[in-house]
Amino acid sequence: RTAPPEREVASICPYCGVGCQVGFRVSGDRIEEVVGRDGPSNQGRLCVKGRFGFGYLTHPDRLKRPLIRIEDAAKDPADCLDPRAARGKFREASWEEALDRAAAGLARIRDMRGPDALAGFGSAKGSNEEAYLFQKLVRTGFGTNNVDHCTRLCHAASVAALLEGIGSGAVTAPFTAARDAEVIIVIGARPTENHPVAATYLKDAATRGATLVTMDPRGSALDRHAAEVVRFAPGRDVAVLNAMLHTVIVEELYDRQYVAAHTEDFALIRDHVAAYTPEAMAPIAGVPAEQLRRVARLYARAGSAMILWGMGISQSTHGTDNTRCLIALALLCGQVGRPGTGLHPLRGQNNVQGASDAGLIPMMFPDYRRTGDEAARSHLERLWNAQLDSRPGLTVVEIMHAAERGDIGGMYVMGENPAMSDPDVTHARAALARLDHLVVQDLFLTETATLADVVLPASAWPEKDGTVTNTNRQVQLGRAAVPPPEGVQQDLAIIVELARRLGLPWAYAHPRDVFPEMAEATPSLANITWERLEREGSVTYPCAGPDQPGQEIVFGDRFPTASGRARFVPAGLADPAEMPDAQFPFVLTTGRQLEHWHTGTMTRRAGPLDALEPGPTAALAPAELARLGLSPGDRVRLATRRGVIELATRADPALPDGLVFVPFAFREAAANMLTTSQLDPWGKIPEFKFCAVRVERI
Ligand code: SF4
Repeated sequence: RTAPPEREVASICPYCGVGCQVGFRVSGDRIEEVVGRDGPSNQGRLCVKGRFGFGYLTHPDRLKRPLIRIEDAAKDPADCLDPRAARGKFREASWEEALDRAAAGLARIRDMRGPDALAGFGSAKGSNEEAYLFQKLVRTGFGTNNVDHCTRLCHAASVAALLEGIGSGAVTAPFTAARDAEVIIVIGARPTENHPVAATYLKDAATRGATLVTMDPRGSALDRHAAEVVRFAPGRDVAVLNAMLHTVIVEELYDRQYVAAHTEDFALIRDHVAAYTPEAMAPIAGVPAEQLRRVARLYARAGSAMILWGMGISQSTHGTDNTRCLIALALLCGQVGRPGTGLHPLRGQNNVQGASDAGLIPMMFPDYRRTGDEAARSHLERLWNAQLDSRPGLTVVEIMHAAERGDIGGMYVMGENPAMSDPDVTHARAALARLDHLVVQDLFLTETATLADVVLPASAWPEKDGTVTNTNRQVQLGRAAVPPPEGVQQDLAIIVELARRLGLPWAYAHPRDVFPEMAEATPSLANITWERLEREGSVTYPCAGPDQPGQEIVFGDRFPTASGRARFVPAGLADPAEMPDAQFPFVLTTGRQLEHWHTGTMTRRAGPLDALEPGPTAALAPAELARLGLSPGDRVRLATRRGVIELATRADPALPDGLVFVPFAFREAAANMLTTSQLDPWGKIPEFKFCAVRVERI
């Protein structure tokens, strides 16, 4: 580039839940570079994805015209392996024809088979306004609560436990509160890869003297900054945490005053963890009893301590139990509601907090009000001038099972890629192929879109205005930096057009038209307005007044429960759904890498990121590779009871023996061919972090 960019547009990074404020530096209609701005969650910092991950915007694969499946072109799950080849099964169509076809197919199923034969997957990659309208369309236009999004594959277990325990599913303090913490526990999370800018704040805190404790079956770059590194056996979180709870209670390290004033059911947890001595749990957890005691004492004795966690805790058939233990630990020690304390589930997608707040959840309306809550329902029925179903809808994986059975015949999928992201994707793909009518709205012909009847080209985040809410509860304004490619419409306009064709008299022309209604449906957004966000860029909820700053740390006085107190909920030990055996002797765990985002749709089309991590690998401990007679780079076949993939090996000293890690971004070796769709009974989240696998040399 010879000339400096013409302008800088303030917006938000489209990748992770840290919500870094960015400046898109633009010349003409092209983003030249991305720089960090002084946002509350990043103060100018960006990671490699935020800085270099925008090439997908102008990638030649970008969809620019709606597509309609050619009559008689069969839906074949094998098309997911090569979406470019599958393009021959579609023809281009005008927007009028595509929208008419999309809406008519959905209406036909609704009218002939009933509303519950339809479902919608919204997106945590879109704005709050889009999420709000999407769920409103499904509830009022389709007439069902079968609406969900990727939170179900992410922190659903955390939210279930938090709502049950403290009455709110959001964080009690931002990760930046680590600056005031004496002790910081990071468990089941790898922030240096998955929340890289948040990780810098944790490292800063450790450098300034905070005691950092990392707890995970895998090591991470954060371990270098930790005073204690607890490497426990995969799937044994409850054993570790119950031993810590036992220690805190038996050694009388808990905060009696706090427990008496702010909690209920202490006797339940006290009696329950009595048997979970560190000695009894040590062989199960794979951690010395003395280290379990040491870490429990560190946390309990700290003047202020935070717990941050990630998918390692939640993506488990006992994810809700894992989170219950973390909540119990914080409540016992009074480590909530003060500076430097808190419970913080690190959110994955850039807007998974906001999309959940806005109601993209089947059992809850906006603001986590249950569909069975009559007051909430009649409020929304008045606001939306519609009749609402009081029954909770189906969740992501349940919807796939219902589609496979033929109970669900039509779906609208916006910005999600279940043909790659769902567990046991062989079944998910077969279920999608079985649908009578599938409408997919996305930037590219994704694996899911190859199975669609109608594909609607979507606009990308830097092409639109809208608000998003990050992991810290900071509602932030994103601004369009460039227009969508010619022929592509704004996502909000597409939702509105579909709604009109389904009989809803909607007139929203811009996200600012949606925000006031969304705020009325979502009391947590009180005192936050579009105009205020235009002025301030970011406001944290809850916010006490139009000129007050938002409240970073919550629940100092009371919890938002009926009694104002938080609850202890005991968790029992249980095996993961599928244990290794002679046939499948290894444990498979899946996740993200620093350079790639989820199913790779965007980052594999962003040149610098794809160059850094161009292909799928199965990582094993170096000693494990040697035992198998393998060298890094050798190709292997990974097989589980559900599928087989082939890929190269990589040596990773951070992995313990017996554990294999595969990222889920690569279509050519889709990790979710292998994973199990067994669900946590409360959060309904699948067990992406544990299943039995065999490793074979090819
Ligand atoms: Fe984007 Fe997350 Fe990286 Fe920040 S930390 S630049 S929000 S991916």
